[in-house]
Amino acid sequence: MDPSGASDPYVKIKLIPDPDGKTKKKSKTVKSTLNPEWNETFKFDLKQEDKDRRLAIEVWDWDRTSRNDFMGSLSFGVSEVLKKPADGWYKLLNQEEGEFYNIPITDEAIQEELNKKLEKMAQIAASKPRPQHRPKGDGHKEQGDRVRAADFNFLMVLGKGSFGKVMLAERKGAPDELYAVKILKKDVIIQDDDVECTMIEKRVLATPSKPPFLVQLHSCFQTMDRLYFVMEYVNGGDLMFQIQQVGKFKEPVAVFYAAEIAAGLFFLHRQGIIYRDLKLDNVMLDSDGHIKITDFGMCKENIVNDATTKTFCGTPDYIAPEIIMYQPYDRSVDWWAYGVLLYEMLVGQLLTKDTKKRLGCGGTGERDIREHPFFRRIDWEKIEARDVQPPFKPKIKNPRSAENFDPIFTRAKLDLTPPDAVVIKNIPEDEFDGFTCVNAYYCPVRDNYVIDV
Ligand code: ATP
Ligand code: MG
Repeated sequence: MDPSGASDPYVKIKLIPDPDGKTKKKSKTVKSTLNPEWNETFKFDLKQEDKDRRLAIEVWDWDRTSRNDFMGSLSFGVSEVLKKPADGWYKLLNQEEGEFYNIPITDEAIQEELNKKLEKMAQIAASKPRPQHRPKGDGHKEQGDRVRAADFNFLMVLGKGSFGKVMLAERKGAPDELYAVKILKKDVIIQDDDVECTMIEKRVLATPSKPPFLVQLHSCFQTMDRLYFVMEYVNGGDLMFQIQQVGKFKEPVAVFYAAEIAAGLFFLHRQGIIYRDLKLDNVMLDSDGHIKITDFGMCKENIVNDATTKTFCGTPDYIAPEIIMYQPYDRSVDWWAYGVLLYEMLVGQLLTKDTKKRLGCGGTGERDIREHPFFRRIDWEKIEARDVQPPFKPKIKNPRSAENFDPIFTRAKLDLTPPDAVVIKNIPEDEFDGFTCVNAYYCPVRDNYVIDV
């Protein structure tokens, strides 16, 4: 840099990730300037897969005496600029932030637009019709065995636990329709006294208008000895699997996952549901890299207003101190587990044991999280509309090979183990009444969720 403070800047523009440097283009260097201008056009021949990359723009100072100096950068999700071209002034960010964000500079015109938008939102909110009503019935009523095990070809085991198995299945006659089918053994459920948990899992899975951050249910059915949850197949693997591949996540990546997880929790909490089992293993990535919370077996319903509960449950590393101390608790326990999860993603701070002081737990909990500086780069409206391009797209060569699942499971035998005949014989006929259903809110293949109208 020359002593007057002027510099010799040039711009590097590329599609990232760019491991072999093939997409890099360079502008002219503008000599000795404090106010550089480039009027150049760069062309990229985009392939289909490039829409998941980012267009990075970096400004460098050409310096003969030392190495080149990085002055700042920004980037745009290719899929996002294809939807809406970028135009205007943007901040130059540091290298890590620039890899993931672009921050428009709010000048008066932008401010004006923002005011208009706020005004429009206020008008829409004021004119919103009465609470929406659901289709006839609740959309999940007992419908006889409309869906059955015989409707599916079971392809492989995706996961296993004390509960039974989760299998990858295709619907016969519709090879495009892949599902994850969680199969629970009734004898095990009854011996473990888990009937209520199973019915809660079903009810939460079947909640109407769930945001796409919670795994969607296609249907439930039962045989004499087993319960089946037919769910959308989420094939990017879970966050535990992904973090094991990379060690830890860069902060903007963790922020993105954390924001989508928070959007899922906000919904559950608004429904009076505490999730109680937030952990890396229960957060999966879909094929685009958006998160999906799975596994609602530990949820607690009806925690509204000042209601609390006191059941001792959870996964050891994530259990909040108030549970360990046998105190009545509420949704605060989810924000503790969220803190542990964030810590694991980033390796960070100490966690807040006092529920009154813990972020997300007071009367303004949702707002406190949305407005926390950690999410300063997050546009919550875009997050909730899934309009933010995910930072990473899971590698999926073939959805049927389930390569993002642990081979311990995927290589396992497909057959179901026989149940305990005595337990099965003694199950009252109506024990699992209300379980079987077809979810009117879920459309397979197109990945569309029918919103209440
Ligand atoms: P655990 O106690 O071991 O967590 P669980 O009873 O909680 O078992 P789930 O977490 O629902 O069961 O499922 C077990 C595993 O099956 C998950 O960790 C995941 O790898 C896989 N799995 C579950 N649901 C899906 C889905 N919808 N799509 C793809 N895989 C899934
Ligand atoms: Mg689980």
